[in-house]
Amino acid sequence: MTNQSAGGDAPPAESKRSQHDYNKRSVQELKKIANGQWFRIHQSAGVPASCLTGKHGPCPICGGKDRFRHDDKNGDGTYFCGGRCGSGDGLKLLQLYSGKTFAETLSWLSDLLIGSQPVVSVKGQASTLVNEHSRTALNDVWNESQDVQDGDPVHLYLTRTRRLVLPRIPSALRLHRSLPYFEGKTVIGEYSAMLATVSAADGKPVSIHRTFLTLDGLKAKVSAPKRIMKPVIAGACSGGAIRLYEPSDVLGVAEGIETALACHVATGIPMWAAISSTLMEKLIVPTSVNEVVIFADNDTNQVGQNAAKKLAQRLHSDGKTVKILTPATPGTDWADAVTQEL
Ligand SMILES: [Zn+2]
Repeated sequence: MTNQSAGGDAPPAESKRSQHDYNKRSVQELKKIANGQWFRIHQSAGVPASCLTGKHGPCPICGGKDRFRHDDKNGDGTYFCGGRCGSGDGLKLLQLYSGKTFAETLSWLSDLLIGSQPVVSVKGQASTLVNEHSRTALNDVWNESQDVQDGDPVHLYLTRTRRLVLPRIPSALRLHRSLPYFEGKTVIGEYSAMLATVSAADGKPVSIHRTFLTLDGLKAKVSAPKRIMKPVIAGACSGGAIRLYEPSDVLGVAEGIETALACHVATGIPMWAAISSTLMEKLIVPTSVNEVVIFADNDTNQVGQNAAKKLAQRLHSDGKTVKILTPATPGTDWADAVTQEL
């Protein structure tokens, strides 16, 4: 657990709602997501681009001639003002410039970075960065899907093809009976598909992962049977995962959905699927989790192992207990290892 204090940024106790929604955990997580993006965040808030060049100039808040500099140290959006604004990080500058309360500032930032509405709800206050086309596409696919039932293509895929003994299918997984598969702009065919909700770092659904299947539960013979849809906001999947099971103080992480399910069957650990090695590296783990078990793929090119190591290092420096487990045979993942043992 991290005991890191939010320092001078501690939110004022304005209301139960703001305390509940914007505790220190979400502040730290939001800052992680915002890292490296402060130029566009400050610009979205209305700070003139001429103030964000990294050179001395007038302060966007208190004026003057050259008292202000946006130096963006470590990608944290930091600034220095020789006038009354002092210095601080991107969040402080955002709050000063907007004149909003701390809670309002966080809410605005959260909407900007993550989106204010779940993908399953079409209407809502759209942040300027929400891709309405993506949101509509995501909602359409989700609304056409259904719960997984015994004997349907998703059930057959998981239990027969992948040989997973699952007492219940996680609700993050759904069946779509007829999903068009595109190559470029051309529809190649319509397939059954396993849908999986991709949640952002704050748990809000932002995209859908699709596994295209045949009616009898085999992977469809298409060039890319696994695909992720464009998220509601570009980059919103970064830090996120497919949350298959609710974590306790322990969370298990694997790359693929099937691997994560296999690890859950074998160990009982609540598992998330990070989707890819790139996203695994960036995964953000809730502060309520003390121990993270990373079930790494044993890739012959070391990509999976390296992603696992990078995630482990970051989580370890956040004060968490981290274990990496890698299957013995090169070129395999834990789904292979577990089903071979059965
Ligand atoms: Zn100033």
